[in-house]
Amino acid sequence: MIHLAPSMVVMNPMTALSLLFAGISLWIRRDVSNPPAARYYFYIALGLAFLVSLIGVLRLIDAVVSLPFHVDYLLFPNRLDIPGPSPPEEMAPNTAFGLLFCGLGLLFYDWRTHKEFRPAQAFVLLTALLALLALIGHLYHVLLLNRLGSALPMSLDTAVALELFCMSFLAAQSHAGVMAVITSRTVGGAVARRLIPTAVLVPCLLGLLLLMGEQAGYYGRESALSIFAAGTIVIFTGLIWWNARLLHLADLERARAEEQLRQTSLNLQRSNTDLEQFAYVASHDLFEPLRMVTSYLQLFRQQYKELVDKQGKEFIEFALEGAKRMEALIHDLLAYSRVDMRGRAFEPTDCEQAFNAAVTNLKIALQESAASITHSPLPRVLADKIQLTQVFQNLIGNALKFRGDRPPQITVAAVRQENEWIFSVRDNGIGIDSKDFNRIFVIFQRLHTRQEYAGTGIGLALCKKIIERHGGRIWVESSPGQGSSFYFALPMLEEVEKP
Ligand code: ADP
Repeated sequence: MIHLAPSMVVMNPMTALSLLFAGISLWIRRDVSNPPAARYYFYIALGLAFLVSLIGVLRLIDAVVSLPFHVDYLLFPNRLDIPGPSPPEEMAPNTAFGLLFCGLGLLFYDWRTHKEFRPAQAFVLLTALLALLALIGHLYHVLLLNRLGSALPMSLDTAVALELFCMSFLAAQSHAGVMAVITSRTVGGAVARRLIPTAVLVPCLLGLLLLMGEQAGYYGRESALSIFAAGTIVIFTGLIWWNARLLHLADLERARAEEQLRQTSLNLQRSNTDLEQFAYVASHDLFEPLRMVTSYLQLFRQQYKELVDKQGKEFIEFALEGAKRMEALIHDLLAYSRVDMRGRAFEPTDCEQAFNAAVTNLKIALQESAASITHSPLPRVLADKIQLTQVFQNLIGNALKFRGDRPPQITVAAVRQENEWIFSVRDNGIGIDSKDFNRIFVIFQRLHTRQEYAGTGIGLALCKKIIERHGGRIWVESSPGQGSSFYFALPMLEEVEKP
């Protein structure tokens, strides 16, 4: 056996084999996502991890109760106890602990608790600590740190190999558990990346330098300790200040960004209110001159019907038709701008009543189209009752308007999902292409000409605005020829009585 330093313990062959197993197991577990061999490799990795733990456990039991066979003497037994200056190359108990933890880490590689805690990483960190203590012990020639009690110390090469294994393990899980913070792009991650290596290396190297100085006779033990204390204080205070400054700057930047966001949102809110105000005033004031145009055109048609030829009459009809359409548009715009400006306060509202009111308003249209309408029990929600009625009326009205060849069949329902109610209005009409799902909720957007289906394209935009005012959302599911289902979600009222 080749000895690096004749008086030093070296790695036991069984430790070397276990580390090889651990390395292969980690290599496989690092990426088992390549089927079809994945499952097969996975079991190999588990088997190797189990062997590593078993070797560690057997060695520990052997250290306590002295088993009839020694696991660390299974390989090359006659070469382990060479008489001479070197100590026997048994497996040190802390190495056995390290192997056991590594094995457990590999066995529980992916397991995490509900709080994202990864026991595997805890095992590996424990191993890293054992190996670090052994390394420091070797560095300072203090056997207290690299052995357990009076047992053999962990060899330097084992300590280095275990440390390397632990780093590889953590690197393999670089985005999970404790490593998630360290590798993150946050300020916390940057601070951790700077502080952790310094916290490990600075005391080790400073201590070593001072020890060497003391051994060379430059100063005594007390001076070495004082320099160590002072040096650590200075280095870490500087480092902590540097990092605190980083956090401070990041905080200032965040506060600035927050303030900017607040201003932008205020401006947006103001311009929205201005726009609504404008739409309201404009549409309100436009009614008056429009009515004048309409009534004078009607008067003109009445009084000068003898003087105007057929084409002139046609022109007057076109003008009147245009004025009527403009009136409808202004009327809708006014309704749209009123949702927020003139909306009433929310109060517990029985959706059943809102639904019945909508059905009553649509009674004639329902009769004319021979529609059947059914509904499941509807809950109470916090709402503006008039606006809620408007939503039901627009959705049911559309189900009647956009019907297919068959008589309309409309189903209204509400189901509870977590802390909200999902309402649905389902029909068997012409359906909608999925590419138009978003477009139809935009004001004045229509998928058909006025000749095909009457309307201004405000109904769904109005529904969306009302639902959003109530803190909910609205969407559609449909396909052409298959009918449509309009859904809207509203927050649940705490004191729910029904259904
Ligand atoms: P309008 O009914 O005045 O056209 P809406 O905003 O209510 O305006 O609807 C926008 C468009 O969405 C309609 O033009 C129509 O193409 C489509 N749409 C709405 N409801 C339905 C429905 N139940 N079935 C099929 N298409 C619909």
